[in-house]
Amino acid sequence: MASYFDEHDCEPLADGQQPNHLLHMARLLLDSGLAADWELEYDRVFGGERKVPPASKEVVNNLPTSLITPAEAALEKKCPVCIGLFDEEDEVKQLPCLHRFHTNCIIPWLQRVNSCPLCRHELPTDDPDYENYRKHKARAKQREYELDTLHNSMFG
Ligand SMILES: [Zn+2]
Ligand SMILES: [Zn+2]
Repeated sequence: MASYFDEHDCEPLADGQQPNHLLHMARLLLDSGLAADWELEYDRVFGGERKVPPASKEVVNNLPTSLITPAEAALEKKCPVCIGLFDEEDEVKQLPCLHRFHTNCIIPWLQRVNSCPLCRHELPTDDPDYENYRKHKARAKQREYELDTLHNSMFG
């Protein structure tokens, strides 16, 4: 006699595991390329307000770190997070977008969000779902760009 699982063509769940149909659907949609607007789709599936994951721990650990030199302190530049001056000997970290912040200011920030507080440049995250979403978003943008270019070359 066929079991329930054979008839319904699905895997039995491990003890205590809950099926996550929404997440599963989202992955299917994103993978299949059926969802035209990733952003809307993501919002719909994950519930409006997008949860932005923290920056990847490894990336944060490897950010270039330096101490403010007397010459840099003389420029009287301010840290955008605490609006305090960069004083001589202050330890600062530089993001890939070249913006610099006090180590003590940027670390707690990157533990919550993966983007530069100043220009919103995004850092990689440790969240596979979010990385997937970003990849698809970038691809969708590229497709839009290619269509635009094609359109312009035909009608421009
Ligand atoms: Zn600061
Ligand atoms: Zn920046």
